[in-house]
Order: sequence, then C-alpha cells, then structure tokens
Amino acid sequence: MMDLKLAEPALLRDAAFVGGVWVAGAASIAVTNPADGEVVGHVPDLGEAETLLALDAAVPAQAAWARVTGKGRGAVLRRWGELMMDHQEDLARIMTAEQGKPLAEARGEVAYAASFLEWFADEARRITGDVLTPHQTDRRILVRKEPVGIVAAVTPWNFPLAMITRKAGPALAAGCAIIIKPSELTPLSALALAYLGEQAGVPAGVLSVITGQAAPIGNVLTGDKRIAKFTFTGSTGVGKKLAARCMETVKRVSLELGGNAPFIVFDDADLDAAVEGAIASKFRNAGQTCVCANRLIVQSGIYDAFAAALAARVAGLKVGPGLAGPSDQGPLIDARAVEKARAHVADAVARGGRVLTGGAPVAGGGTFFAPTVITGVPADALLCREETFGPVAGLVRFETEEEAIAIANDTDAGLASYLFTRDYERVWRVPEALRYGMVGVNTGLISTEVAPFGGVKESGMGREGSHYGMDDYLNLKMVCLAVA
Ligand code: NAD
Repeated sequence: MMDLKLAEPALLRDAAFVGGVWVAGAASIAVTNPADGEVVGHVPDLGEAETLLALDAAVPAQAAWARVTGKGRGAVLRRWGELMMDHQEDLARIMTAEQGKPLAEARGEVAYAASFLEWFADEARRITGDVLTPHQTDRRILVRKEPVGIVAAVTPWNFPLAMITRKAGPALAAGCAIIIKPSELTPLSALALAYLGEQAGVPAGVLSVITGQAAPIGNVLTGDKRIAKFTFTGSTGVGKKLAARCMETVKRVSLELGGNAPFIVFDDADLDAAVEGAIASKFRNAGQTCVCANRLIVQSGIYDAFAAALAARVAGLKVGPGLAGPSDQGPLIDARAVEKARAHVADAVARGGRVLTGGAPVAGGGTFFAPTVITGVPADALLCREETFGPVAGLVRFETEEEAIAIANDTDAGLASYLFTRDYERVWRVPEALRYGMVGVNTGLISTEVAPFGGVKESGMGREGSHYGMDDYLNLKMVCLAVA
C-alpha cells in the first residue's frame, strides 16, 4: 500500500459511514492509483442491508435536523467547509492518489468543493416563503418552503469531492438528510469528507456515505419509498436508467449528465486568450470534465494560426503522475478511457484529420495519454458526436456564424458551451442561440459556487450551486386559509 504522507492519517478511512456509525463490512474493495496501479487503500464492499440501515437512521435524524434553525444548520456546514480547508493538503493527496489529477488541480478542487459548503451555509438562513394575493376576499394564501426529506445521491469519479458537496451542501442547508453512494473508483475522498462532516457536528444519520456495489445500493436508493429525492451526477446512460426507476415511486429527480461542449473561436477572437481558454477547458483533469470543450469549432480566417498556437502550447504540457512532482496532466482514470481516446483519434484520422501533436498513449505503463491536437476534423467524426473524456482536441472548420451555431447545436447534449469573439453584438447574439445550460464567453473556466450549474436536453435537469441550487431540495407547500 502506498504511503500518502498525510498530516492526519485518520482521514484515510477503511470503513464506510452508515447512519452515524463507521462500518467495516465483511469484504472490501481495493482502491488503486491510476498512475501505476498501486493500492491506495481499501473500502468496505457494502450493499442493500447497509443502505437500509442508513435509511432507517435517516428517518428520525432528518425530522430532527429540519427543526434546527437555519442559522444552526449553517454553522455546521460552515465548520465542515473550514475543516476541509484545514485539511486541504491531505484531501488533495488522497484525491490525486485515487483519481490521478495533478496535485495542484486536486488542491483547487478541495477549495472549490469547500466553497459549496460555505455558500450553502449562508443559504440555510435565507429560505423564505411567500404570501400571495388571494383569489377571494375571505381567503389568505401562504407558500411555505419545506425540506424534501431524505435525499439519495450518486456521484462520479472525475470530481470526487465537489460533486458531493454540491449536493450535500444544499441538502443539509434545506433540512434534508443525505445518503451518498460515491464512485467505486474514488470512495476514499468521499469517506474523508464524511469524517470531517462528523467532526463538524453533522448529527448521526443526517449524512451517510456507503461504498460497495453500485447495483444493490442503487436499487434501494432508487426504489425505497422513504427516499424523496434522487440526485445523480454521471453518464447519461446510467442517469436515464436510474431516473426511470425513480419514477415508480415518483421521486423528485435531479440529473447532471454528460456534455459535448462546443468551443467556438471566431476570426475576431483574441488568439492568445482563445488558446489559453482551450487549454483550461480541454486539458484540465486530462479532459475528463463534463464541461470540457469537446469540439473546437474554429472560423477559417483564424484556423491555421489557432491550430499552430494551440499545438505548440499543448506540446509543452508535462504529463506525469500527479503525486510525483509538478505535472500539467495526470493519467486517465482507466484503460477503457485510454481506449476511447485512441478510438476517437483513429476515427478522426480515418476521416482525414491530421495529428499536430500527441495522438497516442504515452509509453511506459500507466494510463497516460499524450495531450493531442488534430486538425481537419469533420463535424460528424466520433469525437464530435460523443464525449471523448480525454485530452484530445479536434478542430472543426467553419465559415459563417450561422454554420457555427448549427454545428454547435447539432447534439443531444446541452451542458456547457464556449465562444471567443471581440464583436460585442455577437457576444449577445450567439449565447442566445446556443441551446445549452451554460455559456462561457471569452473564458474556458465557468464553474463557481455562485452560479447555477446544469444542462438542458439530455445533459440533465435541475441546477446545482447558487441560490437556485436550493430549489431542488425544497418543496413548496401552499396553505389556503379561510378568514371571515
Ligand atoms: P457513471 O455513470 O459510470 O457512474 C456514475 C455513478 O453511478 C458512479 O457512482 C457509479 O458507481 C454509479 N452507478 C453506475 N451504475 C449504477 C447503478 N446501477 N445503480 C446505482 N449507481 C450506479 O459515470 P462516471 O464514469 O463515474 O462519470 C463520468 C460521467 O459523468 C461523464 O459522462 C461526465 O460527463 C458526467 N459528469 C457530469 C457532470 C455534470 O455536472 N453534468 C459532472 C461530472 C461528471
């Protein structure tokens, strides 16, 4: 097992957090470092029985938690966020070890994840209702906002902490309890987070993190009537299946699914800004980000200059294990991810694309894939139709604004989109025409706790972060009073 050199070794848990109790389980799952396959730690292989235990504990715990004042709930959330920042380095090391991203990016994610707890700590005090103008003189109408109840959350491996706090923050602020099933690839970050939550004073039963097999845990989370809301971040295929199951008991459902982000560069763009934006958007987390630029759609006049500048910049990115020293890009999550990147490159080349840099796995073991730029990619190539989820930038050429919008919108996904231009009218016109939940204008980085994050079309439903992020965890209750 690798030595992570943690300041607080207790953060590396080998038990899951079930209804306020640390449960070891009869069997365990090894968690490995994608950079070299070394075992980072073990987590319990739990299933239906433990999920039901968490649920049994959540019922009374949620009722009591909902009665705590907003200020009281906020204080616990704030403390939890502060503890994350106190342990930023340890959390980052655990994350890099199990997920692969460079340590600097992992530190950034810890801060980003903590920002949701801090944000929703404040929101807990701002849950307001309404008094409506009644339809009759002898009636009064009130609107109350109440916690939905017990929330089940299923989260992915690409952002092992932030995808959890973006759900746990608003859930706990609203007065809900939450049961989380993290990805089996990155459970250690989730358990470290639960440990800090317990220390911050989250009452027993309000927060559970269950590790183990997806299907038996998922069956309870999507099927049990006591769960009022199901929130999922992950792939579109799995999200659709789980959401369908939730409809048998008519749960409220939020889905944050896959994207296929267009990154449009117009002739009048600031070339350097566009290149830096593309680096940030495409190559962060080795391209394994749902808001990643997936298709670089570039206008003819700037195409060659942009391609050359991007390829030069990308060729200089340092690839290596996240824990070993400064690197710009770590390994991909597993061999399947490498295979997908390779297949997308091969398809683009078969359709006439030209590899300017990269294009293949990095020799010498691990799951490293060279940062890649390909020009001359047709808009119907595989890497334009599917989320590549790897460090492959394919450049599609266009002539007119209408053509760029048509290419950008020609997908079932609708999460993030980007454009680079210095034309102020276009800055208004194009975002209005893009059928996406989020648009970055002259920036490749758009995620923040203050803004609503989410997609349209098959990229999902619901919004996370910002004051809108509370809505998914609150029910509206109307009270109609007869007043003589
Ligand atoms: P995934 O769908 O394979 O897995 C997501 C989670 O679902 C994991 O915890 C997994 O164990 C669980 N799961 C799978 N089958 C299940 C079942 N039958 N019952 C219960 N749980 C089950 O996705 P992934 O590979 O972990 O994540 C990558 C995907 O997530 C990409 O498509 C990416 O775009 C998407 N993503 C979206 C957002 C967003 O906010 N829209 C954010 C991050 C990632």
